[in-house]
This record gives sequence, structure tokens and C-alpha cells, in this order.
Amino acid sequence: MTIAQHKVVTIHYKVSDSESDEVIDSSENAEPMTYLHGAQNIIPGLEQALEGKAVGDELEVVVEAAEAYGERSDDRIQQVPMEAFQGMEKVEPGMAVTAQTDQGQINLVITEVNGDMVTVDANHPLAGKSLKFEVTVEDVRDASEEEMAHGHVHGPGGHEH
Ligand code: ZN
Repeated sequence: MTIAQHKVVTIHYKVSDSESDEVIDSSENAEPMTYLHGAQNIIPGLEQALEGKAVGDELEVVVEAAEAYGERSDDRIQQVPMEAFQGMEKVEPGMAVTAQTDQGQINLVITEVNGDMVTVDANHPLAGKSLKFEVTVEDVRDASEEEMAHGHVHGPGGHEH
């Protein structure tokens, strides 16, 4: 069985910064990752690279930022008044916070605190990076009707509900 739309795919993976070779994440010594192919569960560049692969296949692919977590955008960096952080014990550069917006919840990183003004960055931490994936295909199976309807995987490695 090869990987195609609506297959449930299990992979072991290692992802690193393609420029610095720094390892960002790996399933080594952990559970492999299971996802629903064709449902935007994983970044587009990796999904495309896995199309047509089968159990036992190993691949190494470099995914450019645009096909991974997107380019960094200065529009996603904003200054907000300190009073927006009421209730937080401390506000320091490097802290991750979530904010409610019209478009739902977004993750921000505080990059600078300057008096009453706080600079926050809503870019994904991996935005702007081209990523190298080393992947081994561990399992491919058909998705259930329910999984297709939900757009994600149930059972081991997936949603439990
Ligand atoms: Zn579900």
C-alpha cells in the first residue's frame, strides 16, 4: 500500500535546521508520529514528499520555509502596552504567551520589554527556516470513515475521543 489521500501514515522522523544542522525534533526513542495524509495534518512540503511512498521507504527531504512554517513577517511583530499582560506574574523576553484574537487563539513570543511597551512576535518559531526531514515510513493503512470526517487520526498516536 502506498501513501495517498486518506491513508493513515505512521513515520519515524528527524527534523533539523537545513543550514545549521541543529536537530529541532525527532521521534527517536519515542513513539512514531501518525497522521492522516491529505488532511493538512503536517506541513505541505513533507506531505508532498511522502506521496507515493510505502512501508520501509526512507527519505531525506529539504523543505523550504514557504512549504514548511512560512516566511517570517514583520507584520506579525507588534508592540502592545504592558497592561495587556495583567495577571501575569512576570513579563520577560523569551516567554511564550497565548492571545485571543478575532481569528482565534494565537501563540506569541515576547521578544522585548521596554518600559510600558512589550514587543510580541506571532511568527511561528520555525518560520523562515528551511527544514531537513529524515523520515522512515513505518505503517500505511486506510483511514476509517470517521477519521476522514474528522480530518485526523484516531487510536494509537491520534486523537482519543
Ligand atoms: Zn476525531
